[in-house]
Amino acid sequence: MNNSFTDLNVNSNIIEGLLKQGITVPTPIQASSILPALENKDIIGEAFTGSGKTLAYLIPMFHKIDTSKREMQGMILAPTHELAIQIEDQIKLLAENSGVPVTSMSIIGEVNINNQIKKLKDNKPHIIVGTTGRILDLIKKKKIAAHTIKTIVIDEGDNLLDPKRADTVKDIIKTTMKDRQLMVFSASIKLETLATATDLMKEPVVIKSEDKPTINPNIEHMFVVCDRRDKFETLRKIIVAVKPEKAIIFVNDNEDIELTTVKLNYHSKDCFAMNGKISKEDRKLAIESFRHGKIKILVSSDITARGLDVEGITHVFHLDLPLKLNEYLHRSGRTARGDAHGTSICITTIKQLNIIKQYERAFTVKFTEKKVFGGILEDSHYASDAKQDKAKSKSYDSKTNN
Ligand code: AMP
Repeated sequence: MNNSFTDLNVNSNIIEGLLKQGITVPTPIQASSILPALENKDIIGEAFTGSGKTLAYLIPMFHKIDTSKREMQGMILAPTHELAIQIEDQIKLLAENSGVPVTSMSIIGEVNINNQIKKLKDNKPHIIVGTTGRILDLIKKKKIAAHTIKTIVIDEGDNLLDPKRADTVKDIIKTTMKDRQLMVFSASIKLETLATATDLMKEPVVIKSEDKPTINPNIEHMFVVCDRRDKFETLRKIIVAVKPEKAIIFVNDNEDIELTTVKLNYHSKDCFAMNGKISKEDRKLAIESFRHGKIKILVSSDITARGLDVEGITHVFHLDLPLKLNEYLHRSGRTARGDAHGTSICITTIKQLNIIKQYERAFTVKFTEKKVFGGILEDSHYASDAKQDKAKSKSYDSKTNN
């Protein structure tokens, strides 16, 4: 296994750029795919979000782009606007940090097409990142000259190459030259995806992931459904019911962290707000107090989701669900350290139940639905009943995700 970017023949300016981003050691998907990608091989890579897959294809793309030419040379297809924008952010960051003047533009639907056409014409970006419908539209309108494209990446291939959507992707690829490189990255490589992808490729290198996210089997996963406005009260009742010895409550927004802490401390005084603004020293002190039991509950952003190894955390509560799928794994992994058992409880709206389903699929875990009744956390079947009675779901706040 190559364990440095130098071993992978990555240019020194890119290595320096990565260093500025705190990236020094390639992740497994990067270690396996950068060399064959630099050799212009087609690739099918199994990689989940958070595995470093974006840089696994961006680093070789940065090598191959001839920045002296003002023409489109790379195209990245993504299933959602959000992902396209995240990828473009990573391109801009790497270009800035490495000093390699690669330019990019996101091409997503719902943005005025005429403005997009003008920007494409004026800027002539090296890489476009976007959703398939709009890209195909612009190719058909002859506003994207696909024949200069050297590399195509299909991100989240299991989604984009799903038989229901694959035709658009195939239509886009057909407009590019035969000798272009095609890389497909996918969280799981189903036979179907493999078949569709290999049809489009020349002898692809298939990279299987050996570090699939796994979850500690000693964690019990639960969810409690409520209206968005009732989330805090539901959390409070759950805490009264389960009486955690030591717990972390995850909240996404700094202000909500403060508010939740203040409200919980109204009832008892053993919560601490661990928000992103807190100084390193205060953070250290708080973790020590938490370790020794002086603080019983940390109300925290994702800053404590990784690496915090405190024994005796009996419960993790997700007052907000994490913004990224894999973050659930890191957050809930704070409980059940060593041989201990622990419980992870999501407080969700009915609209968010699809995210619980995603956790179940991605991490092969089973969640049980609970409700608080008479001060006890007991089994509930509300969500499954509600599915059969759609009218019920209308009483739930479904405007936002959290
Ligand atoms: P991705 O799987 O592409 O969504 O990447 C997830 C996050 O991992 C991004 O924020 C990257 O900046 C970061 N990342 C990518 N490669 C590495 C690496 N080799 N070491 C540390 N972090 C990385």
